[in-house]
Amino acid sequence: MLFAHDTELALACAASLVNTGRGDAEKLPDAAALDDFVAAWGWTGARTHDQAELGAVRALRPRLARLWETGEDEAVELVNTLLREANALPQLIRHDGWDYHLHATPDDAPLADRMAVEAAMAFTDVIRTGQLDRRRLCAAEGCDNVLIDLSKNRSRRFCSTSCSNRTNVAAYRTRQAAHG
Ligand SMILES: [Zn+2]
Ligand SMILES: [Zn+2]
Repeated sequence: MLFAHDTELALACAASLVNTGRGDAEKLPDAAALDDFVAAWGWTGARTHDQAELGAVRALRPRLARLWETGEDEAVELVNTLLREANALPQLIRHDGWDYHLHATPDDAPLADRMAVEAAMAFTDVIRTGQLDRRRLCAAEGCDNVLIDLSKNRSRRFCSTSCSNRTNVAAYRTRQAAHG
């Protein structure tokens, strides 16, 4: 493991959240879609299930996307801003079968604030261990999803198995065509 478990989970979740706003279709079109996202990533804590909550989460996406696009100094500035805005206060917590990990916002903080802080906290680890070079854009044609490469040999290139399969099939067809 490169980072603590909660950090790796938070990085994957942040990438997934950013990616809901990329590509052709809006993947968080309504509150039900947000409910699915929240359940899929195991978020607990207070929810309002209203348009304001959905709007705040959507508005967070382009800000988190900047964490994939900027140099170190600007990423640091953004991380610090996200932590400051939500009055982040790291505390070790054990709950729901999870061993001790960090929460830096109270459970009743707005969902978007908790998502912002969790992503920012995870990036503090990435930045201070000098591993911003693990940020990637998906290598598949026509996909602009982001990912963090957590593989030991830094070999991850695709956001998903569907992108990696699609690329392999295309490469196979190209080889076949060259033969035939
Ligand atoms: Zn937790
Ligand atoms: Zn992709």
